[in-house]
Amino acid sequence: MASITLKDIVKKYGDGFPAVNGVSIDIADGEFVILVGPSGCGKSTLLRMIVGLEDITSGDLMIDGQRVNEKAPRDRDLAMVFQNYALYPHLTVGENIAFPLRLTKGKFTDAEIREKVEHAADLLELREHLDRKPANLSGGQRQRVAMGRAIVRDAKAFLFDEPLSNLDAKLRGQMRTEIARLQRRLATTTVYVTHDQTEAMTLGDRVAVLRKGELQQLASPRALYEQPVNLFVAGFIGSPPMNFLPGQVSGYSMELPFGTFDMPERIVSAVGGRELVIVGLRPEHFEDARLVDPTKKDRGRTFDAQIDVTEWLGAELYAYVPFEMHASVAEQLEELDRELDGEGLRTQFVVALDSASRVRDGDTT
Ligand code: ATP
Repeated sequence: MASITLKDIVKKYGDGFPAVNGVSIDIADGEFVILVGPSGCGKSTLLRMIVGLEDITSGDLMIDGQRVNEKAPRDRDLAMVFQNYALYPHLTVGENIAFPLRLTKGKFTDAEIREKVEHAADLLELREHLDRKPANLSGGQRQRVAMGRAIVRDAKAFLFDEPLSNLDAKLRGQMRTEIARLQRRLATTTVYVTHDQTEAMTLGDRVAVLRKGELQQLASPRALYEQPVNLFVAGFIGSPPMNFLPGQVSGYSMELPFGTFDMPERIVSAVGGRELVIVGLRPEHFEDARLVDPTKKDRGRTFDAQIDVTEWLGAELYAYVPFEMHASVAEQLEELDRELDGEGLRTQFVVALDSASRVRDGDTT
């Protein structure tokens, strides 16, 4: 097992905009770190640089404290599991799992190889399928064979590139749990790329959120959800997504699209004298006033709203409430939106996000 350190890693393809732009991440021995972000944010490129399939333009990649930028992939001793599994169709499951050991040319005896393959097959519940060909396996079983190949190598770390994206939703859920279980049991350092935030939130000890080649936040799933550092992270993590509402501040009160409210003290300090803020409120911060304990109800934060669409999901019901925005506020919001796409974003939006949980511990807003 190993620690992996990325220090100011940059990747440029040709003369274009860097696909990865100064990313630094410390991955501890045995840690499970997720790289997540929208399509094109550079997460696969980052993973491919770690494994050695892509040159690093600048920065340092360290494995167990040693710089490995120039090391060939096979000398890095990392095992990668790809989205398409890359199984050999003419080989059986057992032969596929044994393949990386055969490549070491005489390092292991046949008996040792058999023992390692059987051990991996037991871990992955593939024992009874060892003589079958990949074509005769389900997607989930193929996925496990690909993982078996990583396990037999006793690699220092596992690297996963969107391993579940070819599976249907149900299987994806099952495999997600299996990967989590397996990683916990083996305690092997793992870096896992996905664009699926459920995978990111459920699997990772820590999650690195990337956008346009830059690291936005590296934190535990809980910290990402509760203390996102900017609007991008706040909007990316959480489903349904956080509501972003324009708030016009005047003294100790804030005008939101559905009413004017007194601000709790902590929000006043978060607002820090700004006049226009974006308030981030997660869907669960709204409650149906009829269900709220009447003794906690008032303090001026209850409002009337017209629900226009509902979505029933069994355990939950999502209600959508449209709101009208004052023209001048809309204009200012557009301006902020433009800044979000530019460089000046980071300090500007932090404020709203904390407020969500703070408003919540007041009562019904
Ligand atoms: P996805 O989720 O779509 O796989 P990603 O976050 O993994 O996206 P990358 O594949 O790492 O993103 O790509 C990051 C950026 O680098 C993109 O803008 C992509 O077009 C560009 N890129 C990736 N590979 C190459 C390449 N071989 N040559 C030139 N540009 C590339």
